[in-house]
Amino acid sequence: MKIGVYPGSFDPFTVGHLDVLKSAVSLFDLVYVAVLNNSEKDPVFTAAERVDMIDRMIEAEGLQNVRSGMFDGLLVRYAAQVGASHIIRGLRAITDFEYEFQIDAVNRHLMNEIRTVYFMASPSHSFLSSSKVKEIGRFGGSIEGLVPPCNENFIRERLARQ
Ligand code: ADP
Repeated sequence: MKIGVYPGSFDPFTVGHLDVLKSAVSLFDLVYVAVLNNSEKDPVFTAAERVDMIDRMIEAEGLQNVRSGMFDGLLVRYAAQVGASHIIRGLRAITDFEYEFQIDAVNRHLMNEIRTVYFMASPSHSFLSSSKVKEIGRFGGSIEGLVPPCNENFIRERLARQ
């Protein structure tokens, strides 16, 4: 069984993330969307809330071969634990490339047998990030079409309170 791990902060999960995920599910038998529970970052949504939103999205989108997960510490260790052969990442601008290039070197150093595959952002989502969603929501702008519909109200209400 071919297993992939799609890791990220997902604070919150956007339609850009969904686009990458949908590309990945056609290549893997099972994909784990794994929320990074990193105490150094200062997320708006707790790791548990981010996992809940991903679970709702999986259900709403009817994605059969996708599971949610959470990890802290080394990503490659988590990937090995769940039996994944590949890590899945998305690429937007050239700045993503530089960052991913470094992370890939570190991951190969740690566990050379786990390789990373990349999906280019679709043109309509190439400027979309969790940070932009948070910025728009905090200023009362519409986040419709930027996040999965099933999570839109929850995200909007949280950001409006900030
Ligand atoms: P991280 O903090 O690990 O970068 P993110 O949640 O920001 O976590 O992103 C997770 C992954 O999804 C990264 O590989 C990122 O490049 C990719 N990604 C984020 N937004 C988009 C988008 N709009 N289109 C394609 N890939 C994206």
